[in-house]
Amino acid sequence: MTISLHGLTKVFPGGVRALDSLDLDIGEGEFFALLGPSGCGKTTLLRSIAGLETPTSGTVSIGGADVTALPPGRRDVAMVFQDYALFPHMDVTANIAYPLRIQKVPRARREARAAEVAGRLSLSELLGRRPGQLSGGQQQRVALARAIACHPKVFLFDEPLSNLDARLRLEARTFLKRLQDELGVTTVFVTHDQGEALALAHRIAVMDAGRITQVGTPAEIFRRPATTFVASFIGSTPMNLLPGEVAGGALHVAGAVLPAPPGLPDGEEIVYGVRPEYADLSAVPRDDAFPGTVAVLENLGTSTLVTLEGGGEDGDRLVQVVVPEGEDPPVGAAAWAVPRPDRALVYHGDRLVHPA
Ligand code: ATP
Repeated sequence: MTISLHGLTKVFPGGVRALDSLDLDIGEGEFFALLGPSGCGKTTLLRSIAGLETPTSGTVSIGGADVTALPPGRRDVAMVFQDYALFPHMDVTANIAYPLRIQKVPRARREARAAEVAGRLSLSELLGRRPGQLSGGQQQRVALARAIACHPKVFLFDEPLSNLDARLRLEARTFLKRLQDELGVTTVFVTHDQGEALALAHRIAVMDAGRITQVGTPAEIFRRPATTFVASFIGSTPMNLLPGEVAGGALHVAGAVLPAPPGLPDGEEIVYGVRPEYADLSAVPRDDAFPGTVAVLENLGTSTLVTLEGGGEDGDRLVQVVVPEGEDPPVGAAAWAVPRPDRALVYHGDRLVHPA
């Protein structure tokens, strides 16, 4: 089922504008992530699709039909909450079969369906247990099984992995991706974890203050973040975002002279973006590099994150570079961070102007 949102606005009593005239189209079978910092409106958007929140204005359509006025029970969507919301007094079978019971499906049929879904999610051994007797990962799978049981047209997940520890989270992530691939059901999931969004989603919407800043595939969002906000939000190590200006047809940024993209007149201020993974370290001076002193080394396992402190009037400026294992520079040494020109981003007026 497709999902379309048009002019969606939600103003809570007290005046908080959680959604601000938002438009979004999600395709049939898509695994779609809503990504953004705390309070940007992700949960409100998901709840508006579910029918748990009534928009102040705008429309929600599912499968081409306007469902804005329909209650949650008539939208054919299943939502998995962050805390799983399982019934503590019911066993696994009864929890999974609960939505079918509400739909008045006869007991034998709903228990057969619960057993079938439990098998698919590796829960067959646990059918007689109550949620309190399950691990966090098992509870999460029961919540997924309950969502799947009634063949919804749309899945809505609100931070479904956030209660799991780091290792289980990676396992559950792979599991979720495979399950969505197999079922092919349109899925919208909310996360504030950029790594999770990049790993799972076909497409991502990055949200800020009730609006969508950028929609794209993980590769598009990673390679060409449309604004410095998106650039700073995406990536496992934060992007270097350095102010500079155009002079004599070149960019002057943090002690480096770099090629200017066409169409930027002298005197304009820009922000130069380069990921730490896309810069190299030089031990000898270069004009096209940011000079500094090695201040901090952080071991990333197969590589090291090196922080350079700028000298002179740029004393507070920090530039980070990822170097391969075994190539750590000594702390206190002078070093130059050389951005790779084919990976550099240039922002003017907070919009990406290069690559065009
Ligand atoms: P988080 O990642 O912290 O869950 P979020 O991006 O999901 O955040 P929302 O929960 O959608 O954000 O909240 C968006 C804004 O609306 C916030 O400023 C929040 O305080 C406000 N808000 C949410 N629910 C209500 C409510 N029932 N009444 C008043 N304000 C609300």
